[in-house]
Amino acid sequence: MARSTGLPSSAVQREALAGLRALYDEVDALFGGITCEASTDCCRFGVTGREPYPTAVELALLERAVAARGGLPKPPRLPVVSERRCPLLGADGRCVAYASRPFGCRTFFCERATPPADGVSRRDVQRLARDVAALSERFDPRDPQARPLSRAVAAWRSR
Ligand code: SF4
Repeated sequence: MARSTGLPSSAVQREALAGLRALYDEVDALFGGITCEASTDCCRFGVTGREPYPTAVELALLERAVAARGGLPKPPRLPVVSERRCPLLGADGRCVAYASRPFGCRTFFCERATPPADGVSRRDVQRLARDVAALSERFDPRDPQARPLSRAVAAWRSR
């Protein structure tokens, strides 16, 4: 008899990933009125002093997107170490997995961004964050928690 891995069935995991895509659509609709300069400062964690903490289900979606494009981008030859550039930021200054970027990347806007006229409801954002956490619990009950994006990607590299 096969030993249980503690993971739910692949059907349950697929359902959780589909649920996450639907939640991302909701998040994007909520933040749809925001305009930003696309400076990519928010993809340089040393510049903002913070980085996204994706959950297990978000990382699974992201990892699939990275695999589909053929892997991670090459790191710059001469990185500015203090910038702490996101490992998913391509040489062209664009996220290589933009459509699958984590919740934190969709909801963090620097002070230069222009918010929608009627604002964004903090309560809605908190509800969506809770929904993402619940999906992650379903996706991988063994280890659903959020973790720093850079640490998670470093773990992909060492596999
Ligand atoms: S995942 Fe993409 S959007 Fe998010 S910080 Fe990295 S490069 Fe930027």
